[in-house]
Amino acid sequence: MSAADPEGGAPAPAIEIAGLRKAFGDHEVLRGIDLAVAAGEVVCVIGPSGSGKSTLLRCVNLLEEPTGGTVRVAGAEVTDPDADIDAIRRGIGMVFQSFNLFPHLTALGNVTVAQRKVLGRGRAEAERIGREGLARVGLADKVDAYPDRLSGGQQQRVAIARALAMGPAVMLFDEPTSALDPELVGDVLGVMRDLAAEGMTMLVVTHEMSFAREVADRVVFMDGGVVVEEGPAARVIGAPEHERTRAFLSRVL
Ligand code: ADP
Ligand code: MG
Repeated sequence: MSAADPEGGAPAPAIEIAGLRKAFGDHEVLRGIDLAVAAGEVVCVIGPSGSGKSTLLRCVNLLEEPTGGTVRVAGAEVTDPDADIDAIRRGIGMVFQSFNLFPHLTALGNVTVAQRKVLGRGRAEAERIGREGLARVGLADKVDAYPDRLSGGQQQRVAIARALAMGPAVMLFDEPTSALDPELVGDVLGVMRDLAAEGMTMLVVTHEMSFAREVADRVVFMDGGVVVEEGPAARVIGAPEHERTRAFLSRVL
């Protein structure tokens, strides 16, 4: 599907979230989120715990069903009740705080299983793409290693390679380095930095302010289920306009 506007205007955003609401019972966690991510753009979402950041990401690939609003990814409306959600999900790579690798599969097994079962690729092709992906995240020498022999940072890089092997149009990251020992964070952020430089569209929830400052095209500050402010990273992090943003940054910087 082309993201181009048939009338010749600006291309449609890779991710377009409009009026998004999500309630769990009486608790409205997302209270009208509007957010667009252009193709090739990197947007970092920051905000306090409980502000709805994970729920926002999970609504993008319908791991949570929104209670209102629309989400479009690569031109397809995720929130359309008739949407082929499995097909849409194949185009969305997601990396979580917990890596969730299959413990009984090697690194190569982990990056090939969905290619084979979901995309129907043959073993040779899946392994070729899997090896390329593991090399891309700096793990060419770990293809045969089982997860329990890999550090947390290496496991997270396998998880990134696994998502990339599916050829996603966009990548969602939910605090991908929060579970890592500090000395392992840099390698994972380095892989994400390379991906950004290669033009991947990325929506990243993170507490890594230096990463956001250096890599994000835009930073979005969320609090209480709304976007409080957004703008270029240097402005939102360096010179926030809202008191709530300042208060949050003073706690994390
Ligand atoms: P963040 O990622 O910013 O920390 P979350 O999106 O995880 O925030 O959570 C936002 C709010 O939604 C929290 O109050 C959380 O308890 C609540 N919440 C998240 N998931 C569920 C769920 N499945 N059922 C009920 N409440 C939930
Ligand atoms: Mg979260």
